[in-house]
Amino acid sequence: MSANQGTRAYDAVIVGAGHNGLVAAAYLARAGRSVLVLERLGHTGGAAVSSRPFAGVEARLSRYSYLVSLLPPKIVADLGLDFRLRSRTISSYTPVERAGRPTGLLVGGGEERTRAAFARLTGGEREYAAWQRFYGMTGRVAERVFPTLTEPLPSRDELRRRVDDETAWRTLFEEPVGAAVEEHFEDDLVRGVVLTDALIGTFADAHDPSLAQNRCFLYHVIGGGTGAWDVPVGGMGALTDALAAAARTAGAEIVTGHEAVRIDGDADGAEVTYRTADGEGVVAARHVLVNASPHELAVLTGAAAPEPAEGAQLKVNMLLTRLPRLRDPDVDPREAFAGTFHIAEGYGQLATAHAQAAAGRLPAAPPSEIYCHSLTDPTILGPELAGRGYQTLTLFGLHTPARLFDHDNDAVREELLESTLAQLDAHLAEPLADCLATDADGRPCIEAKTPLDLERDLRLPGGNIFHRALSWPYSQPGTGRWGVETAHPRVLLCGAGAVRGGGVSGVPGHNAAMAVLEHDRNHQD
Ligand SMILES: Cc1cc2nc3c(=O)[nH]c(=O)nc-3n(C[C@H](O)[C@H](O)[C@H](O)COP(=O)(O)OP(=O)(O)OC[C@H]3O[C@@H](n4cnc5c(N)ncnc54)[C@H](O)[C@@H]3O)c2cc1C
Repeated sequence: MSANQGTRAYDAVIVGAGHNGLVAAAYLARAGRSVLVLERLGHTGGAAVSSRPFAGVEARLSRYSYLVSLLPPKIVADLGLDFRLRSRTISSYTPVERAGRPTGLLVGGGEERTRAAFARLTGGEREYAAWQRFYGMTGRVAERVFPTLTEPLPSRDELRRRVDDETAWRTLFEEPVGAAVEEHFEDDLVRGVVLTDALIGTFADAHDPSLAQNRCFLYHVIGGGTGAWDVPVGGMGALTDALAAAARTAGAEIVTGHEAVRIDGDADGAEVTYRTADGEGVVAARHVLVNASPHELAVLTGAAAPEPAEGAQLKVNMLLTRLPRLRDPDVDPREAFAGTFHIAEGYGQLATAHAQAAAGRLPAAPPSEIYCHSLTDPTILGPELAGRGYQTLTLFGLHTPARLFDHDNDAVREELLESTLAQLDAHLAEPLADCLATDADGRPCIEAKTPLDLERDLRLPGGNIFHRALSWPYSQPGTGRWGVETAHPRVLLCGAGAVRGGGVSGVPGHNAAMAVLEHDRNHQD
């Protein structure tokens, strides 16, 4: 599309300054392209931000996303990002009551300790041996699949050959993951801990024939070629800030408070109409990259919007004056909270919660997991709070689909928050409420976000944290060479809704930039 006289023109206009939009901007600007990024909010980062949600309190929380696994080190190196991850000393802790006594499973702290922890819970060696076999298998798949994410999409057969293990392929790509969990593990708690990776932001049962849970599981075990989930130093906003700096240094313009409202494309380029507080404007581009969701893309191009695959999670951010004591006498809270602390996530509990939510009710015992990031990265607290022993706490709840909040978001949020925290309190020797800090106005430092809140704040369709259901990491009819192509030749997706999108990875941003550069090389226009 040739630009009208007076219309500013760029090689690439990017709609959205989420971390993926910024990755695309940085790659393209470094390759010498002129780039404009339009962001509707007053700040960059989308769901990857650090913010101070509590009035007058020096705690920078990863307000939405919080752990990193899927970001290829290649992107950090290519863009010269000043960004560090820190690994957690403990992988997970799951409290449970057995024979009327509080106990639990602590995974991490070395092989011998983990083996002993399994033996303490299950009374034998079997479950830990199964754990090692199972995660040995996912580790081998991770090594082979993760490097493909930043290459052109392999076909299903190519990826299968690359995995080169028919049992692993069947387990992860073909049969509902519940079958493998039940085949490998006997203990209900151990089964639940394994299954949770299949249910993060994904409303599905272990045996769902759609295999949505398998795709979610796959993305949770392949990151970095190991499946480890690390804490971003400085919170998730540190990544966004490093990306924005890299893009700007390379010459990209990034403007906030600019909402794209229309995209008109043809075979040569596209025009983007945007709105600011001062009115409307138009920019032209040889390529438009959309970091917003596929739903938003449809609205912008005037196409029929796909039905959103609703989100199903509760996100709670808290600040504590101290970590609560546990009922389990054998575990130090500083270890229990350092990893992923699972609550009401036994295998049977997860199935019941899903069934209740699918029948239109809030789960009676809502499953969730909590994390204390300040144990791994104290820099997110101001020196005064850190000195007084304050800690952050993040909770991610499962199996509460957006539809459950439709009739009264505020009331359902309150009810769910109360019942979720009651599940945690059942494992504590003192109520969590006694440990909550207060803000400058005397209010407890706690905020909760439902799927409807996320839809309103971040424009995540249906509150889906991945923009839409996760895709298999191989080509399918209509997916294009890089998984970012759309019905418009000069409009690409560069956000979580692309094939191999979802999560804090930068992968769709990288792949959309590669598609543009490859197109330019092939066409020299
Ligand atoms: C509560 C929560 C917890 C999560 N936890 C994790 C985690 O721990 N680890 C992990 O890997 N992933 C996690 N995720 C998922 C991950 O955060 C997202 O998949 C990822 O951030 C998506 O990045 P993105 O850049 O593609 O899109 P987004 O972050 O959604 O950014 C899109 C940007 O586009 C902007 N935009 C939208 N429409 C327009 C428009 N019309 N004009 C201009 N701008 C527009 C938006 O304002 C936004 O800034 C979590 C997500 C949520 C919500």
